[in-house]
Amino acid sequence: MKEIRLLDIVEDTIVDGTGFRTAIYAAGCPHRCYGCHNPQSWNICNGKKWSIDAILQIIENNPVSNVTFSGGEPFAQAEGFLELAKRIKSETRKTIWCYTGYRYEQLVGNRMYEELLSCLDVLVDGPFILKQKDPDLLFRGSSNQRIIPLNK
Ligand code: SF4
Repeated sequence: MKEIRLLDIVEDTIVDGTGFRTAIYAAGCPHRCYGCHNPQSWNICNGKKWSIDAILQIIENNPVSNVTFSGGEPFAQAEGFLELAKRIKSETRKTIWCYTGYRYEQLVGNRMYEELLSCLDVLVDGPFILKQKDPDLLFRGSSNQRIIPLNK
């Protein structure tokens, strides 16, 4: 059974995408952005192992919230998040937003990344750039980041 290392799961957030969302925070991040709001997320060992079943149960038990993958860097654990995303799509009607420090163009061309992208509804991409920080931006930390609708 696959496992994912997570920093936390927070239900009913309203800052990680539209509406209420269950935010799944991946542990581990290779980007190490200057000014990162959570440098503790960089070391994957700071996370706890979760089974896909246990994560899915929390998601399914919440009647109102959709889902957001964040971190840390979800694509650094792409295999586990792909399995989770497939099960969310086959077993629930919930939408998935995903935050990544990669730019969309860096993810295209990798088979597993593309499969994960195909399960997502919205990607928020790009590293956090302190010089482009803007507190007025909705759902983003810096103006280089893009909110990219993926679902057809
Ligand atoms: S991608 Fe996010 S979590 Fe990773 S270093 Fe940058 S701001 Fe921090």
